[in-house]
Amino acid sequence: MRIDLHTHSAVSDGTESPAALVATAAAAGLDVVALTDHDTTDGWAAAEAARPAGLTVVPGLELSCRWFPADEPPVSVHLLAYLFDPAHPALSAELARLRAERLGRGERIVTALAAAGYPVVWERIVEASAGGVVGRPHVARALVEAGVVESVDQAFADLLSHRSPHYVAKADTDVLEGIRLVREAGGVPVFAHGLATKRGRVVDDAAIAAMAGAGLLGLEVDHPDHSPAERDHLRGLAGELGLLTTGSSDHHGANKTTPIGACLTDPGQYDALLAAGTGTAPFTGPVGVPG
Ligand code: AMP
Ligand code: FE
Ligand code: FE
Ligand code: ZN
Repeated sequence: MRIDLHTHSAVSDGTESPAALVATAAAAGLDVVALTDHDTTDGWAAAEAARPAGLTVVPGLELSCRWFPADEPPVSVHLLAYLFDPAHPALSAELARLRAERLGRGERIVTALAAAGYPVVWERIVEASAGGVVGRPHVARALVEAGVVESVDQAFADLLSHRSPHYVAKADTDVLEGIRLVREAGGVPVFAHGLATKRGRVVDDAAIAAMAGAGLLGLEVDHPDHSPAERDHLRGLAGELGLLTTGSSDHHGANKTTPIGACLTDPGQYDALLAAGTGTAPFTGPVGVPG
């Protein structure tokens, strides 16, 4: 069984439509793929409708969150959530708030860049996102298209980095509240790329223990941004805290170089995840037949 539990479509900051994404998953020989767009479930229906026979699609998302340490500024963290009820009122209201927050913040970043002389236009970026969830990758692509930088990577390394004078933070969900909301909606919360030091500041073991206390059920261990030592540490922590472990590519289409299936989840861990999710069922069975 080849199981990849973390991918993005163009409904957020990937580049493939949900239909193209599930076709890519099948072509890569996956048996199971989770669609985990940032802060939205809008791609679920199209992924389900286009699902090739033999591929199971696990509906999910990646919630933008913050951890609040005692005496330091908040740390940006991502929470994967699977198999929750997408109609749960409090969770869907929080997702709507996050998407609105992203729009306001994206516009402020672009206004700051334009004021500094970079030829980027907010309305065009919103148009290019085609109603999807806007993030820095959309601004990065606009910078590439304007010839300001050569690649999305280069935009993130400099103009869009959190150290850039043009950077604006988002008011993301308190991760402990996010975990509670996902559980209330019958979902399975899994801490995404928790030790990816290459992305910026990360949380300590006590924070992960606090998340487990709030109802976290898993840690994403095998992720392209984790070193072997970071994976070992997280696997040990999962054992101590009784959490399941996952492995995933965090594929973003052409916005990142990571191919789908670059990291995989152990089938036994996947079974535990399925058993814990009660808010909605995975999309499986023969195409066209509910299963
Ligand atoms: P935002 O959510 O708007 O703060 O943007 C962060 C998102 O940008 C992350 O979820 C990643 O998917 C993406 N990202 C971060 N670094 C890079 C990079 N170097 N190249 C492409 N995408 C990136
Ligand atoms: Fe992303
Ligand atoms: Fe993430
Ligand atoms: Zn992701």
